[in-house]
Amino acid sequence: EATAPMRLSTRGDYESFVDRFDTFLFDCDGVIWNGTTLVDNVPAALDMLRRRGKRLVFVTNNSAKSRRDYVAKFARLGIQASAEEIFSSAYATAVYLRDVAKFDAGKKAYVVGGSGIRQELEDVGIAAIGHEDTDSVSLETLQDVVPNPNVGAVVCGIDYDISYRKLANAHVNLVHNGDCLFIATNDDRTLPGGKHMYPGAGSLLSVLTHSTQRAPLVMGKPNAPMMECVIQRFRLDPARTCMVGDRLDTDILFGISGGLSTLCVLTGVADEASVLSPDTPCATYYMSSVGDLSALAP
Ligand code: PLP
Ligand code: CA
Repeated sequence: EATAPMRLSTRGDYESFVDRFDTFLFDCDGVIWNGTTLVDNVPAALDMLRRRGKRLVFVTNNSAKSRRDYVAKFARLGIQASAEEIFSSAYATAVYLRDVAKFDAGKKAYVVGGSGIRQELEDVGIAAIGHEDTDSVSLETLQDVVPNPNVGAVVCGIDYDISYRKLANAHVNLVHNGDCLFIATNDDRTLPGGKHMYPGAGSLLSVLTHSTQRAPLVMGKPNAPMMECVIQRFRLDPARTCMVGDRLDTDILFGISGGLSTLCVLTGVADEASVLSPDTPCATYYMSSVGDLSALAP
């Protein structure tokens, strides 16, 4: 439909917006914080929502941290959040493998990714390997890289220690291990690194999609698996749920695809021109910052 997003700018706008929903899904980077810096007034805005009995869920594509790590990050920034309220692409991957793929407990996951993914997998009883494969290879030693019949899935996310040895292991398992699953935490082309954007998990993933000619199941926003996990886990009523994000092509599209209302904020990637452009996914609402909702705080 061609309706434009509604700008929220007055107390009255905020009041009627907040009243329309029971649950708010918050993207993290660009909404709650930027990197390690809290967005102004966000803790007061979240407190206000909690005092009004709203349910808050934090939905992030970033697989670098486990939910336990996120609880610590929230606390450091002065926000109370429990592990149950945090939904990361790494956690969604673990839940998917356990509950949907019915992953064979005798098998292992080969992880091109960091400790966040490893921890979430281990927390649901799935052994993770691959983190040790950081040493270099030569053409002479490459022949030692062979498929491992115990590997039932290759999981790919952000990996700051990515190595040719890991990629080669992932590749041979995906190509030569008959029913090896191929799961990606998220497909973000870039990630915000403070000064610049840098290659995101999707860019690392592209090595494996190119070499194997296989398409992974991608868990993260804007894809359906993450939404299905969130809706099922929290028994959400889409009519009473709003997805809040800073990226139109991931967060807002994610909300729209799930049948939710959406709020785009301007503290991250999207600016007002892109929010209002007819060529981008159309949010239900937009406003400068989640922090502005703190105007409703007592
Ligand atoms: N992936 C990585 C590795 C990141 O560092 C970030 C943001 O910092 C993201 C994804 C995007 O996270 P979010 O979905 O919270 O915006
Ligand atoms: Ca974001």
